[in-house]
Amino acid sequence: MSKVCINIAWPYANGKIHLGHVAGSLLPPDIFSRYNRLAGNEVLMVGGSDQHGTPITVTAEKEHTTPEAVAERYHEINKKAIEDLGIEYSLFNKTYCKTHYEVVQKLFLDLLGSGYLYTKQTDQYYCADCGRFLPDRYVEGVCPTCGAVDVRSDQCDSCGTTFEPGDLKEPHCIQCGNVPEVRQTEHFFLKLSAFRERLLDYISDKDYWRSNVKTFTQNWLNEGLSDRAITRDMSWGVPVPVDGWDGKVIYVWFDAVIGYLSASIEYSNIIGRPDYWKQFWQDQEVKHYYFIGKDNIPFHSIIWPAILMGEGGLNLPYDIPANEYLMFGGGKLSKSRGGSIDVPSVLKKYDADLVRYYLSINMPDTHDSDFSWEDFKVKVNNELVSDLGNYYHRCLSFTHKNFGSVPDAAPSEESAEVMEKIGSAFKEYSELLSKCDFKKALKSVMDLAHFANKYFDSSKPWALVKSDKDACGRVMNTNLRIVKALAVMSWPFMPRSSEKIWEYLGIGGTIEECGYEGLAAPLPAGTQMKEPVPVYKKVEFEDEKEKDKAKEKGQTPAAGAEITGPFADFRKLDLRSGTVVSVQDHPDADKLYLLNVDIGEESPRQIVAGLKAYYPREKMLGRKVLVVSNLKPAKLRGVMSSGMLLAADDEDMGGSAVLLLTPSKEVPNGTKFSSGMDSSSSRIEYKDFQKTVLKVSTVKDGVFVAGSRKLESAEGCPLRAAAVFDGDDTVLLTDGNGSVATVDSEIKDGAGVR
Ligand SMILES: [Zn+2]
Ligand SMILES: [Zn+2]
Repeated sequence: MSKVCINIAWPYANGKIHLGHVAGSLLPPDIFSRYNRLAGNEVLMVGGSDQHGTPITVTAEKEHTTPEAVAERYHEINKKAIEDLGIEYSLFNKTYCKTHYEVVQKLFLDLLGSGYLYTKQTDQYYCADCGRFLPDRYVEGVCPTCGAVDVRSDQCDSCGTTFEPGDLKEPHCIQCGNVPEVRQTEHFFLKLSAFRERLLDYISDKDYWRSNVKTFTQNWLNEGLSDRAITRDMSWGVPVPVDGWDGKVIYVWFDAVIGYLSASIEYSNIIGRPDYWKQFWQDQEVKHYYFIGKDNIPFHSIIWPAILMGEGGLNLPYDIPANEYLMFGGGKLSKSRGGSIDVPSVLKKYDADLVRYYLSINMPDTHDSDFSWEDFKVKVNNELVSDLGNYYHRCLSFTHKNFGSVPDAAPSEESAEVMEKIGSAFKEYSELLSKCDFKKALKSVMDLAHFANKYFDSSKPWALVKSDKDACGRVMNTNLRIVKALAVMSWPFMPRSSEKIWEYLGIGGTIEECGYEGLAAPLPAGTQMKEPVPVYKKVEFEDEKEKDKAKEKGQTPAAGAEITGPFADFRKLDLRSGTVVSVQDHPDADKLYLLNVDIGEESPRQIVAGLKAYYPREKMLGRKVLVVSNLKPAKLRGVMSSGMLLAADDEDMGGSAVLLLTPSKEVPNGTKFSSGMDSSSSRIEYKDFQKTVLKVSTVKDGVFVAGSRKLESAEGCPLRAAAVFDGDDTVLLTDGNGSVATVDSEIKDGAGVR
């Protein structure tokens, strides 16, 4: 067991945190912390609200209140939002904190005593109209480097350039719009230049840093370091602990980075072990990680290490996995510029784990990534719900229903392939996590879920339970071991849903107690299971309006675009069982019926079907049918049709039959016929449907005659059945639970389905 110190960038307490903060710097450390906890390491994870600085005072002035009121309000809101997201700090502290003030002032005086601070007259924007010096955020203008407009006078968000007073073009005071002048004022400076050699030495072995961090830092050092002012003319902040310096405070960038240390000390005080922090900050074996956004790189790779070097005896950052930006509609998500998606509103609509999944799989780790609600829906529904969630629920509900408790284990040779797969997935996953490669680590979990679904399908427990219940039990024991492994491996990403799965398994203790060490341990047979409820809900937008809005912005991916691999075309179909509840003649077409078909939705679907020549009205009414339910609604001879009935047709083969497909065993309306594969419910076009190869044939001794192939699932299958083809691969069209799509009279083998 080793100790790990995880430090998290401090969001400004001048607004609600949004998804950009979560993806950029708040979620990655929580994943990393949980990974370390499962690996048996002791984690100290600190950070908090940055309550000083001009973002707070600007907001306070706008709201005609005090900086303290603003800072405390948003600290509480954001603290709760972070907890609601399942992000577990040791302490989410704040900079308006007595301990913090003491630690900052101590470091200030230590650096002053060691000769690393000095005073100097400096230029500063001064607004004659407002009668005061203007801190950086009070002046905006045009970036001299990249030409971006409305840039703050300290740093350009677009290109990262930092500025001195006078650098900015077309400066204006944000309070009154006046052009400020540059005046002289006295400030303390940090002698950053004195640390250049030591910093170069420090980064020389940091080959494992992300390239953006390493390059940015190297460039800064190559350009040479200028000393930086660490005090400013303001009243809100940590007072300068020197006589005669009233009205000036310590600069927020100096104060905030010290927050990592002060929060560690504050946490130690809170838990009643005042020296606890020393185990993390003074033992050189302990690695320090800093999770930040890319705009914060130099403060963590240069300035904070310099301060720590000046103080001495404290650990320097080991790694600084800075993320890029989450982009929204092409722009950086920034709450100070509008267009924000704040966490409390998001969590009112969606479970935290859905948000955590999406932001992990779409994490802006090595390059900016785009956020859209459409993409959120696609990834949650087509990956999380249909791969992982579906597998969890199939295994847990099937075993609970048929066995009630964990069945006896298979002999190890029977489950060897599965255990090997779990082992290799875990190896890949933990290597990636140890390097803070979160997106790829989650992908390895999803790959395992994909394998698991295939294993479940190929072992056909629904058939096995009838023919050999003991064998079925052994298969399900192996499946439950995959469920367990998936729950443990998913926990860093989606803790709450993983904990629910753990509960349904009934094995006691917690995932954290189990840890990675117990990941592959057998499940004790006889353990009572709990009745499961699906842990992930599909994302449904509140109304079509939101979708339309997204479309206008060009953010709609093609329907079903995510589905690839075997049977990809078939998996785009959403096939449902239904009952014809009314039959009318089409008002304007002799060959068409106007049907209402109940497919388990609130009201029946109106479907126009060209079946009049083949089925008299009385044979249609009450008929069980199969419906393509996600076909884009279309007008047929002036009447809207929302779906299509599946029918086999041998006319191409010289026959004359058109026969409706029907389930071989009665199933509730709305039962999905997907042959056990994940499928989409996105809208498709008729031409998409045509890509699927579906045929009806007789089945003799388990062989689908038209395809001359033995079908594993054909046992107990009716005389005639429909099958789906993908090249040489063939599967029966079933509900995965013993009902097969069939026809009720003779038709030529190989008749196509339309
Ligand atoms: Zn710029
Ligand atoms: Zn002014």
